[in-house]
Amino acid sequence: MTSPNPNPRVLVIGAGPSGLAIAQGLKKASIPCTVFERQPQNLESRDWGMLLHWGTPYLLKTLPPELQARIHEPRVDPHYDYSEPPKRMNIQTGEVVGRSVGENLVRVSRRKLRNFLIEGVDVRWEKRLADVRVGEGGVTAVFEDGSEEVGQLLVGSDGGRSRVREVLLGVEAARSEETPFTMMNFSEAKYTAEQARFLRSVHPIVQLGYHPGEKCVAFLAAIDTADPDPAGWRFQNFISWAGPPSTKDLEDPMARAHFWKEKAANFCEPFRTAVLNIDDSAVPPIDALKQWAPRYWDNLGGRLTLAGDAAHSMVPNRGQGLNNAVQDASCIVDAVVSVVKGESTLKDAIDTYEAEMKPRGKKEVEMSYEAARITSRLIDVPMGYEYNLDKDSTARGVKAAGGKSGTGWD
Ligand SMILES: Cc1cc2nc3c(=O)[nH]c(=O)nc-3n(C[C@H](O)[C@H](O)[C@H](O)COP(=O)(O)OP(=O)(O)OC[C@H]3O[C@@H](n4cnc5c(N)ncnc54)[C@H](O)[C@@H]3O)c2cc1C
Repeated sequence: MTSPNPNPRVLVIGAGPSGLAIAQGLKKASIPCTVFERQPQNLESRDWGMLLHWGTPYLLKTLPPELQARIHEPRVDPHYDYSEPPKRMNIQTGEVVGRSVGENLVRVSRRKLRNFLIEGVDVRWEKRLADVRVGEGGVTAVFEDGSEEVGQLLVGSDGGRSRVREVLLGVEAARSEETPFTMMNFSEAKYTAEQARFLRSVHPIVQLGYHPGEKCVAFLAAIDTADPDPAGWRFQNFISWAGPPSTKDLEDPMARAHFWKEKAANFCEPFRTAVLNIDDSAVPPIDALKQWAPRYWDNLGGRLTLAGDAAHSMVPNRGQGLNNAVQDASCIVDAVVSVVKGESTLKDAIDTYEAEMKPRGKKEVEMSYEAARITSRLIDVPMGYEYNLDKDSTARGVKAAGGKSGTGWD
């Protein structure tokens, strides 16, 4: 038992799901916390849909009762009951070849989740972290605008290109690793009411799959269905592939759109209608998929740590990044609470958090990469019907021994 530390201030860098969930959990425990975000408040952040499943209990634990009661709000369609799991298709033939299953599985919009988690927490906008200093009295965050803030713990929740990670490990060791995969991910597509209804006809939320001829993974998902008029619904279109063309080859937005539409002309419905009717003026973002697995770092007496994608960036093929991010958030809140209660020193509490998070994050970075190789058919494995997303599932979507269900891809 150490003496209680009644007044620690936690600095969180990054207002993504992990940083905001930490802020919610600390607020619930009456522990001062400020989130610093590089973007302006009114900027509509880039959106995409995410499967939230085994992470739900961790997220709920960080939330006050009034937000727990509204947990359905960030869903892409708050009214859908998920009685039918998302379908996996052969996008060349249109055959339904399986489904994705997981505990508590729902699909949330990143933008809606962020707006939901911001409620009631102290966020300072347009504060881009430049550097961190650790001294006797605590930790100082130095921002690009020259301002400084002092706290007892600083958490880097600043995503896959984390500046805090660079401070902890140096720029070289913090650099994300290239993978062979490139993605285009466009979440702003709108259609006529008739088309919009048609796009939700195979599955009301998300349908995903692989095109053997075009050698690409694709999914089509509703991302915001709040408008009573289907012409106001927003959809997400995603495609990824291994090898060329690279982001550099498709720098020109016209070439990029042309590349996607050319592939989509060979997609089955409703994927074809979805891509071919994306407005010609739209500029679909393109990204090289990168990854970074946690490793040794000196947390400087427990003053500095990482959470979410900053701690473990994974390719999105297994839908695990958000789920791990909210577990990190919940565990960091527990760690800080134990310090405040005098049950642990800051050093011991953060060491304990990292001892659990690092192997979990490393394993999932590796499994997500393996899953990307499987779903992109770089590894040829026979297809099973169910792809299980639970925490104890394998890269092939099979529940580990003793698990409840799932035939996986074996
Ligand atoms: C296409 C796609 C699909 C995905 N699907 C799923 C899924 O189905 N299920 C799932 O679990 N996960 C999924 N993920 C992963 C998920 O989106 C991430 O794991 C999750 O968003 C990580 O949250 P985060 O808060 O750690 O980081 P982020 O969401 O990246 O937030 C980081 C924040 O930090 C800010 N920031 C960065 N640098 C600084 C700085 N220097 N100073 C201040 N602020 C800074 C950024 O502006 C940003 O707001 C998907 C990802 C993609 C790209």
